[in-house]
Amino acid sequence: MILGSTGSIGTQTLDVVRAMPGFFEVLAMTSGGHHMELFAQQVEEFKPKYTGIADQECLPDGIKCEAGEHVNAAFAGLPEADLVVIALTGIAALEPLLCALRAGKKVALANKESVVCGGAFLQEALRTPGAELIPVDSEHSAIFQCLKSGKADEVERLILTASGGPFWQLSRKDLEYVTPQEALKHPIWQMGEKITVDSATMFNKGLEIIEAHFLFSMPKERIDVMIHPQSIVHSMVEYKDGAVIAQMSMPDMRLAIQYALTYPMRTPRVAPRLSLTDCAPLEFHRVDRETFGAIELAYQALDEARVLPIVYNAANEAAVRLFMDGKIGFCDIERSVRAVMQRMRGTNAPNSLEDILQVHSMAQAMTLEQTGAGK
Ligand code: MG
Repeated sequence: MILGSTGSIGTQTLDVVRAMPGFFEVLAMTSGGHHMELFAQQVEEFKPKYTGIADQECLPDGIKCEAGEHVNAAFAGLPEADLVVIALTGIAALEPLLCALRAGKKVALANKESVVCGGAFLQEALRTPGAELIPVDSEHSAIFQCLKSGKADEVERLILTASGGPFWQLSRKDLEYVTPQEALKHPIWQMGEKITVDSATMFNKGLEIIEAHFLFSMPKERIDVMIHPQSIVHSMVEYKDGAVIAQMSMPDMRLAIQYALTYPMRTPRVAPRLSLTDCAPLEFHRVDRETFGAIELAYQALDEARVLPIVYNAANEAAVRLFMDGKIGFCDIERSVRAVMQRMRGTNAPNSLEDILQVHSMAQAMTLEQTGAGK
């Protein structure tokens, strides 16, 4: 089943399904409520048994659909499902993720917010017999694959690579004047708007540091980040003996999706083949952590790992929206997140999904207030 079939990852998941005839049957498909024409086409082509729309207002004509905000969670535990692809955006993915894991499902997860915000609950949900989580985020898929080369206690550190987005060579002064149009031009990856801006600020990498911490139970001191503009090495694992194992492929999400869908098997490729002699020379650079404060803030968030990652994610999400609306500048995104994290230090750790959502909305409200946009 594919939760969130009309987004960037959802459509690429269907590309993989289409390219592997006879391998998969799409049991269920959901969409948030945008792109209803595309959704209707997908339903027509893949003929899922269940269809759902999260936004009740957007019910399309001519498709029989379940509707409502909990439709994803309701589908996630369906007894007939053996693989749940979660391609939803934002914290809305957390409820269906926990439902799927608690129902003992194998989950291909392409949503980082749910791991960042619900990290502490994942371990418990993953203890359900049958429950399994295979990351689709390209860096985490790479690490997941590289971790097959040794045992957990033999790992020295994880090295996340970052394309650096369009601005990694800019100075802090130049960054102040970046416009939304400029931030939306990513040199390598074609992605949704929010993640493209996150890639430019490096909040995306910050979220991925936190994601790696929870997914691989890795202390933050053992998670490193490196700029690699060509996006051929998707991430690496360094072992205690000094061996560094990298996963390389063309920057195409379909490989990570295919791997998660067919795991533990490897099947004939869907994405283009990598030719190292034809691609640009591979470069690696240090991240300028003074200029891109998002990285340092992510490590700080892990000091209070049950609360501050939620705040980090929520405040960034709200600030990105303000930036896109022209209400704040590019560097104000980082300033707002820093300020809201400061204010929310020491908040009680959430004990339930409801608590998490509450911290999330508090942090968002505070971001609006902080920037004057909430008045
Ligand atoms: Mg990524």
